[in-house]
Amino acid sequence: MWFRIFFFLSFQLAGAALGWHLAAERGALACLLVAGLLWLGIDLLRGARVIRWLRKGSSAEAPQMRGLWGEACDRMRRLLRQSEQKTRDSEHRLQEFLAGIQASPNGVVLLDREGRIEWCNQMAAEHFGFDPQRDVQQLIGNLVREPAFAAGFAQPDGLRGIQMPGRNSTLSRPVRLAVHLYPYGEGRRLLLSSDVTALEQAEAMRRDFVANVSHEIRTPLTVLSGFVETLQTLPLDEPERARYLDHMAQQAERMQSLVQDLLTLSRIEGSPLPGASVWIPLKKLVGECAHEAEALSALLTAGHARPHRLHFGPMPEAEIAGISSELLSAMSNLVSNAIRYTPAGGQIDVSWQTLADGRAEFSVKDTGPGIAAEHIPRLTERFYRVDTSRSRETGGTGLGLAIVKHVAQRHGAELRIESKPGQGSRFAIVFPASRLRDGTAAASGARHAA
Ligand code: ADP
Repeated sequence: MWFRIFFFLSFQLAGAALGWHLAAERGALACLLVAGLLWLGIDLLRGARVIRWLRKGSSAEAPQMRGLWGEACDRMRRLLRQSEQKTRDSEHRLQEFLAGIQASPNGVVLLDREGRIEWCNQMAAEHFGFDPQRDVQQLIGNLVREPAFAAGFAQPDGLRGIQMPGRNSTLSRPVRLAVHLYPYGEGRRLLLSSDVTALEQAEAMRRDFVANVSHEIRTPLTVLSGFVETLQTLPLDEPERARYLDHMAQQAERMQSLVQDLLTLSRIEGSPLPGASVWIPLKKLVGECAHEAEALSALLTAGHARPHRLHFGPMPEAEIAGISSELLSAMSNLVSNAIRYTPAGGQIDVSWQTLADGRAEFSVKDTGPGIAAEHIPRLTERFYRVDTSRSRETGGTGLGLAIVKHVAQRHGAELRIESKPGQGSRFAIVFPASRLRDGTAAASGARHAA
């Protein structure tokens, strides 16, 4: 500042000296005035340069100046730089924040006071069928036409958890959305959507399952209590009593099998995946299956002239890695189904075949009634039966193939079903090579190691 005053006075003095030299007193006065005006003009030009630069507002284009204006420029440039850095930081934070919301599995839509879309993430766009760029500033009421949504949207205190179909919902692939609307800020609203299709399906399955189990238990229970009542109220002779008790035992057995299968299913579902360290000899598993099969066939064909022809093919010294009780349950379910659905005199073949790619197939083939193609994809559903009366007569629970499929999946195996009405059926479990080994090689390896 002092330098500026000194420079100004020096400029004036130089002007006055020059004027004096040229025209004495009057010359000095005139040159003093001219020097003052010149000074003012130069100062105004420098000021105008600074104003021009400030109008552009970029710190990079600051004019290079000396003196007071130079210092003012320097300070302003520093302030501008700081504010540019702050803007960049805020922009960066905003982008990170939006990227976080983009990564959310839920749909997020920000709405202004009028209900226009200010911003939405990709998931919301998919849920409601928006275009995140084109539909900005569109009224949401024009884009989401679902009556439940429109009714909830009109409420001033938001909308809590309505359910509506998603944009891509079809009859074969329904999509259900849960939608929430929360007020925030000054009249703005936050719309959240989540895909609850899987939850809904699980809930529907749970309801069906409970209804099915109740139905399956209620039937034998009703029959059983009817017999109990008869025994309590009617004077029956000994053969009649024995017949009634027989029926009661059958119903109790039916309930027992159902509970047994339900427990097996829940145990399988709740236990950790089978490891690959316990090796079970194939011969042992198939031997137990054969034992059960003979007993079941004898029971079902008792009194028939022609029993089943059961044929268990040669089994190699193979071993399967997994859980013995589960594998036995899966294999014996397939064998017992073949026996139960094949009429007396029919043939059942159980075999083991190693495939070219190292996998191996345990198969059960029967000459029973066969199954129509439309039923095959549904056979592994719980309680799905093609022949309900035959299933019940032979002690079926409708859970056998569900157990087989579950066990197969847990062991990385695949359940294959081939059947045609009138031509019998073939059920097979294809085990992956990773869960198979040659039992003889393993035994000699163990001996060498010892
Ligand atoms: P269930 O206990 O009723 O046998 P499963 O789950 O084992 O239940 O089988 C489902 C349905 O598949 C059975 O009710 C039956 O209609 C059909 N099914 C299963 N195995 C055979 C087979 N070998 N031959 C004909 N139908 C079969």
